[in-house]
Amino acid sequence: MSKEYERKLHYPERGNENLVFDKMIQGAFMFYDRLDTIIEALPPYDKMQVRRNRLYNIVNEYRYFFENEEDPDPNDHSYPDEYDHFYCDKYYDDLDADMYDSALQMNRQLKALSEEYRVFIKDCIRVKTVYAAFLQKIHYRNEYLHAEETAEIFKLYLEDQGRNLRPFDMLQPSGTMSQTFIPLEIDGHTTMCEKYRFGTLGGFLYIDLFKGLENHYLPRKCGLCGRYFLLEATAYSAFCTRPTKEKELPRSRTPKDLRGQGEQRSYPADVHEGV
Ligand SMILES: [Zn+2]
Repeated sequence: MSKEYERKLHYPERGNENLVFDKMIQGAFMFYDRLDTIIEALPPYDKMQVRRNRLYNIVNEYRYFFENEEDPDPNDHSYPDEYDHFYCDKYYDDLDADMYDSALQMNRQLKALSEEYRVFIKDCIRVKTVYAAFLQKIHYRNEYLHAEETAEIFKLYLEDQGRNLRPFDMLQPSGTMSQTFIPLEIDGHTTMCEKYRFGTLGGFLYIDLFKGLENHYLPRKCGLCGRYFLLEATAYSAFCTRPTKEKELPRSRTPKDLRGQGEQRSYPADVHEGV
C-alpha cells in the first residue's frame, strides 16, 4: 500500500490521473492517518509530538493547482484558506514553465514523505524478522556474553544473512546518524555526553542495539509471558518482572512475579535454541 502511494503521489501525468486525483489523495490521507495513529502509540513516539496531516499540508501548500469543488462556479472568486478536496483537470503538459517547476517541487515533497513512511514500515518489519532472531542467538546461553562471543555470533549472523537478499531481512540501519558531544550537568558535575541524531527509526534501533550489546543493556523475550523486557546489566534473567495474573500461575503456587516463578522452573528448550 505504501509502495503504491509512493508511485501514485505526484501531479497528474497520464491516463485519467487528473480525473481521479482527488479520490486518490483522499485515500492517501486516510492511509497515512492510520499510520500516524499507529506511530503515535509506539515508543519512543508516544512520548513525542508526532506531526500529523503532513500530506494534507503539502497539497494545501500547492492548492493553486487544484479546485476545492468538483464543478467550481467560474464567477465565484472566493477561495477557502484550506482545501478539503483537490480536483484537477490538467496534466503536466498543460502547465507553463513556472507552474511546471512548482509541480515538480510538489512531487519532490510528496516523494520524500511517502519514502519516509515506507522506510518506517520496513524498519518495523525488521524488528520482528531480524532483531528478534538475532537477539535469540545472543541469549542462547541465558547469560551475558563476552565481547568476543558477541562478535562471533554477529559474524555468523552476517555470513548467514549474506545469502538473504530482501533488505528488510537484513540486520542493517536505515537512514543516517550523526554523533556529537555535549557537556551536561548531572548531579552537580559537568559530564561529557554523546548525542546521537537519527533520521529514521531503523537508525536508532540499530545503534541502540549495538550500544546495548556493549553495555549489557539488552532486550530479551520473557521465557514465560513471551513479552520483551530490558536486561539492564544487572543479574541476568530469562524472565521479566511483570506481575502475573492469577490464571497464568501454576496450580498451588502464587509467586509475586514472573521472575520469582521462573527461577523455580527450567526451560531446556530455550537453552538449546539458537546458534
Ligand atoms: Zn514475562
